[in-house]
Order: sequence, then structure tokens, then C-alpha cells
Amino acid sequence: MTERDLVTNDDSMTLRFWGARGSLPTPGPGTLRYGGNTLCVELRCGPHLLILDAGSGAREMGAALAGPADADILLSHTHFDHVCGLPFFGPMYDPRARLRFWGGHVDRIHDALLRSWEAPVMPDIHKAFRAVLSFQDFIPGQDLTPHPGLTVRTILLRHPGNAVG
Ligand SMILES: [Zn+2]
Repeated sequence: MTERDLVTNDDSMTLRFWGARGSLPTPGPGTLRYGGNTLCVELRCGPHLLILDAGSGAREMGAALAGPADADILLSHTHFDHVCGLPFFGPMYDPRARLRFWGGHVDRIHDALLRSWEAPVMPDIHKAFRAVLSFQDFIPGQDLTPHPGLTVRTILLRHPGNAVG
């Protein structure tokens, strides 16, 4: 069975919101209904896992994943509320994990993320990552094909410093 067969035979799509807030995590009784975490959405397309943004919700999502993660992480942009969960996303420290980052709002998504992991923002946390990481840049408007048979359409969003939908 090829990867395409897997997609063809399982075209289910499910979404789970692990964080839906902007700017700042907001715990407390006032945010119990939808939770207080910043953006992180788990998107399952058949057998494939896509993660849309990695705000503070990524910590709980990583803890809930069964087995080694194999995921495409699509980042709308790298404002802190959309990436602050990455240093706390358990699979980043799992040598069996395969995590592919996609970014289109800057020239090099790797460089943008690295700045959020290095001192003085973080204590060079990237040196502790053990997952197999890869970084894919694209131009907003470009169609992405994370897996055969799975297409992600992208669009430039109006947002300070650019963002991609
Ligand atoms: Zn923003």
C-alpha cells in the first residue's frame, strides 16, 4: 500500500483546538469554556497530522499524542503567541519524532524560529531538541503538498509583519 492509497482510503478530517486565544495565555475561571491557551490546532487528515500554529496549547497537545510524532507544523507567523509552545512541546525532545515546519511570512522560517529559541529569549533551548526537524519555506499563495494527495492552499493575510492563512 502506498502513501497515496492511505490518503485515498481515509479521507476523514478532524480538528481539535488546543488553544484559541491571541496575544497571551489567559488561565482562570473566565476562560474555562474555551481554555486559556494561545493558538494551537490539531488537524488530522486521514493518517496525517498537521499542526496549525504552536502557541501555549502545544504543550498539552504534545503530552496527549500517542507514540512518536510525525507532523507537519504550519505556522501562520512567528509572533510569540503562535510559537511560544514549541519549547514545551514534548515531541521536540523525542529522537523518534519527525517534525516539519512550514512558514511563508518570512524568507527563512528556520531563522525566525531560532531567534525565539536562542539566548537571551530562551536558554539556547534548541540545543536540547532531539527530534528530526526540517524547515520548509514557501511563498503565500503557493499550494503545499505535505503528503501525496494532501494539498494545503495558502494565502497572505493582512497582519503586522505578514501572516499566512
Ligand atoms: Zn500576530
